[in-house]
Order: sequence, then structure tokens, then C-alpha cells
Amino acid sequence: MNNISYNRAESVKNASEQFGTDKEMSRFIGGGTNLLDLMKYRVENPEHLIDINHLDLSEVENTDSGGLILGATRTNADTAYHEEVEKRYPLLSEAMLSAASAQLRNMATNGGNLLQRTRCFYFYDTATPCNKREPGSGCSALEGFNRLHAILGESEHCIATHPSDMAVALAALNATVHVDGTSGKRSIPILEFHRLPGDTPHIETSLEPGEIITGIELPEKGFAKNYHYLKVRDRPSYAFALVSVAAALELDNNTIKDIRVALGAVAHKPWREPSVEKEFIGEDATIGNFEKLAAKLTEGATGYGDNDFKIPLIKKSIVRALTEAMNK
Ligand SMILES: Cc1cc2nc3c(=O)[nH]c(=O)nc-3n(C[C@H](O)[C@H](O)[C@H](O)COP(=O)(O)OP(=O)(O)OC[C@H]3O[C@@H](n4cnc5c(N)ncnc54)[C@H](O)[C@@H]3O)c2cc1C
Ligand code: SF4
Repeated sequence: MNNISYNRAESVKNASEQFGTDKEMSRFIGGGTNLLDLMKYRVENPEHLIDINHLDLSEVENTDSGGLILGATRTNADTAYHEEVEKRYPLLSEAMLSAASAQLRNMATNGGNLLQRTRCFYFYDTATPCNKREPGSGCSALEGFNRLHAILGESEHCIATHPSDMAVALAALNATVHVDGTSGKRSIPILEFHRLPGDTPHIETSLEPGEIITGIELPEKGFAKNYHYLKVRDRPSYAFALVSVAAALELDNNTIKDIRVALGAVAHKPWREPSVEKEFIGEDATIGNFEKLAAKLTEGATGYGDNDFKIPLIKKSIVRALTEAMNK
């Protein structure tokens, strides 16, 4: 049995101070829906748990620039059903409500959702090599069962995907993650928050040890008219995505004024290429153009056997999500 200390944080500064500098020793706890599983499997073995749920970080508030800040400890359910989120950012509500189950969404927090770990089977199985769990041990998924794994941005050291649905919609919406720690506050654009695996797959985000997510800021533009979150999965609820697409369009009649396409479950982070999107601004919103965009976004995609099906599937899903967004 491992001894674990549990403390409620009194303030963000106090939470960060309690965390200390050794990133293996401490964990903040939000809803606990991922962390406690990882502890039961002995994948994560912290000695100190710091409960941040009593901090004043659960509000949804307007920003001076016309956007919205989602508190880090607010639950996924309370965020997805918040009237401002439903009205101004329905793409985000749709993505969040496609995740997990009602019970899990009632516990899971916004900060915890962004920091949930991959669902790679080998990561959870401490009897197998895994570079993410134990750097330098190897990657069992490369030659193993890799149906859920990455086709874009992967490396020879890790082909895991990020499982969050919320993060995919946030990527399409250009959200910003606000963090605070012993060295002060900073804001990280969502596309720079999660990292590709490279040769350090155990380093998954740009957070420093002891930094706490305090909130997630949405800019004013919410694409509330033409949007769609498409999640393809093995069963219609309570399943992680095989692939997902957060699609958003701003149209002037049939001309594309703005377009966002973020992909989920295909890479170590939500996958988005703003430079590809820009090429389609001013073009007609047609299935032919959506197919061209899908081909460009997935250039270089690689399968590892069991996940080969994801390459045609993600292309078709991009076209379908954009078509649904256009016809909304
Ligand atoms: C059966 C099952 C099915 C699921 N299906 C889906 C799905 O389809 N789609 C999906 O997106 N998710 C799914 N999930 C995952 C679920 O959404 C996550 O477990 C949840 O969002 C994590 O939030 P939490 O608050 O419980 O995090 P915790 O488990 O409390 O924490 C997760 C990590 O985040 C850290 N942390 C938490 N809050 C903060 C903070 N504010 N600042 C810094 N660090 C923090 C913790 O230290 C920990 O490392 C599923 C989970 C289960 C168990
Ligand atoms: S894909 Fe990544 S998480 Fe899965 S076994 Fe390989 S190194 Fe570990």
C-alpha cells in the first residue's frame, strides 16, 4: 500500500507551493475521473494530492474583449449547459456533451479534461514497455494493437492520441489557457498547450511543474451559426472517438469568409493547420473544396496496421462535418 497525503489548497499560490518542484511527487485533483484510475493501475504514483475544487475557479465570466472565461474547476456538465456557452459557442457544448457519460461529465472538470492522459492500452498496462510511462522502455503500440492510435504528428517513440473532445472544439475556437504558478500567471494559446511526442512523449503539455490551469478563455467569435462536431466511435455514447472533427464556417452567401477545422483522436494533440484553412478563404463552400481541404489537412498521414482505416475515415469525416456546418 502507498501512503498518500491529501490537502485542500487555500489559494492558487498555496496550491502551487504545496506542489513543489518534483513533478512526480504531487498531483492536483479535479474530478479525479482520470487521475484515480491511473493511481489504481499504478501508472501514476503521487505521494501528495492537492484538492483544488474549493478554490474560486468555477465561474463562467464575460471578458472585456467580448469573450468568455470558463473556470478550471467548473464541471464539464455545468459548462456545456451554461446558457452563454450553449448560445455563443454551441460547437463547444456539442463536443463536451459527446464525451463520456452524464455521470462522468458531472464530476470531470475543465482543467482536468485538458490534462487527461491517453487511452493507449499499453500506457495503462504496467507489464508492457511504454515510453510515455517509462521513458526509454520502448513503444508497445508500434507493433502491437494500435487501432486507436495516431496517424498524424506521431514519432517512432510514441503513436498515442489525445482523447479529449473538449480540446478539439477549443482548438477550432482559438481558445487560450490561463495558468498560474509560483512564477506568476501566463496565457497559452490552445494550439501550443499540448505537445507532439517527439522523443519526449512523457512531456505532454507546456505546463511547468506546479502550474495550475485557472481558466480557459474563448474569444468573441463563436461560429454559432455554422458549426458541427462530428464524433465517430464504436457505440453512440460512453466511448472515446475513433476520429472526430470540430468544423466551423463563416459564410457570405456561399463564399467562405472564415473556416476552422480541428481534428481529434488522430494525433498526440488536437490537430489543426491554420495555413491550410487560409487557402480556402474566399472560395465557394462546396463538397469539392471540402474534399481538397481534407486531402491537404491529412497529407503525410501514416497508418500502423490496425489504425489504417482512420486515414480514409478522417477525410470523409472532415467533408461530412463541414457539409453539416454549411447546411445548419
Ligand atoms: C469511462 C470513461 C469514458 C470517457 N470518455 C470520454 C470521452 O468520450 N471524451 C472525453 O473527452 N473524455 C472522456 N473521458 C475522460 C474524462 O473526460 C476525463 O477523465 C475528465 O475530463 C478529467 O477531468 P477530471 O477533473 O476528473 O480530472 P482529474 O482526473 O482530476 O485530473 C486529470 C489530470 O489533470 C490534472 N489537473 C486537474 N485539474 C487541474 C488544473 N486545474 N490545473 C492543473 N492540473 C490539473 C490532475 O493533476 C491530473 O493529472 C472518459 C473517462 C472515462 C473514465
Ligand atoms: S503509443 Fe505512446 S503511450 Fe502507447 S505504448 Fe507507445 S509510447 Fe506508450
